[in-house]
Amino acid sequence: MPLRAKVASSVSRGAAALSRVAGRGDGSVIGGWIGLKIDPDLLRNLASGRAIALVSGTNGKTTTTRFAAAALGVLGPVATNSFGANMPTGHTSALAKAGATPFAVLEVDEHYLARVIEETTPRVVALLNLSRDQLDRAKEVAMMAQMWRTALAAHPDVAVVANADDPMVVWAAVNVAHVSWFSAGQRWTDDSWVCPECGSPINRADGDWWCTGCTLRRPKAQWSVEDDGVLDPKGDWHLVKLQLPGHVNVGNAATALAVAAEFGVRPIEAVPRLASVASVAGRYAQVDRDGRNIRLLLAKNPASWLEAFDMAETAPTLLSINARDPDGFDTSWLYDVDFSPLRGRPVYITGDRAYDLAVRLEVNEVAFRHVLTFDEAVQATPPGRLEVIANYTAFQDIRAELDRVN
Ligand SMILES: [Zn+2]
Repeated sequence: MPLRAKVASSVSRGAAALSRVAGRGDGSVIGGWIGLKIDPDLLRNLASGRAIALVSGTNGKTTTTRFAAAALGVLGPVATNSFGANMPTGHTSALAKAGATPFAVLEVDEHYLARVIEETTPRVVALLNLSRDQLDRAKEVAMMAQMWRTALAAHPDVAVVANADDPMVVWAAVNVAHVSWFSAGQRWTDDSWVCPECGSPINRADGDWWCTGCTLRRPKAQWSVEDDGVLDPKGDWHLVKLQLPGHVNVGNAATALAVAAEFGVRPIEAVPRLASVASVAGRYAQVDRDGRNIRLLLAKNPASWLEAFDMAETAPTLLSINARDPDGFDTSWLYDVDFSPLRGRPVYITGDRAYDLAVRLEVNEVAFRHVLTFDEAVQATPPGRLEVIANYTAFQDIRAELDRVN
């Protein structure tokens, strides 16, 4: 690396370490920010010489990144931004901290994908899904798909691993020369009823979809989820045993196996490593307290709420909603989510915007009880499982509360 990059990298590591010691989080944002101030080309310099995979999409990218990093570990040390700092500052910090590694797997915020492709020249880009996210700040889904499509067209050498079940993702990747399609199912379809190519309605039946006005249709998937395993391009089926819950995570595992395969890792080598992932930045973590087994699920937007309902057992459930800056201030998305799967189980609500949630549950005829603290919810539930589903800062609050006790 050039001298300036070496200095910037070292200062970046130092700043991140200082931030950690001061108890101000993991320091990856501040470390990256300072490094990039000293050397604006630092990310490019740190990426150079590494074989890199980028993982982007509205949901599942932190978990898929973690799985892909575990799978690539078969080949050697892998740098990764495992704490979800998914903008260029986070990438810079992660690579500076890891030192020289032959491989890197980076989670990328969907808005930054074009820039990060430009600066890191990845070997593989994985595109998971696109759906509505924070209403007051995220781009429209079709605009995101257009940005991805343009970015990929500018980098024809990049191999793409993409979700065949999401019409927006398929449209973004359909002209890519080297694309490996995976199928993990699409629970949330409300952002892809209209063809991004021609504006005609999209029809769906039996897991297939096609545009009624042009040639855009679901491509044949080389990788797919079948029962509790993954079918690879050769037609071999691999049982995937995970510590993480839900069908959704088998889909994330399939994506990670497809990414690793682009680097020459065989599924049979990678699968056992996926089982080692127990929680991802606190998500899915299980904590035992007063005879209750508390499991934490993060849900940030309508599609991820549907996934959380799929992962949660039919057990007492605490829902917590905030609307602070990282969450987005607009809670009207609550009306996009069908909460009726929660009917019939004890439901507790809390958080800054518990009353918004209360109105929503009322409309969906889900009985609930409002609790002022996390502890009140714990005491109200009988011994056994308590599922906690929370959005971003609400999730962090509950994690902090659990950490204080444990
Ligand atoms: Zn069309």
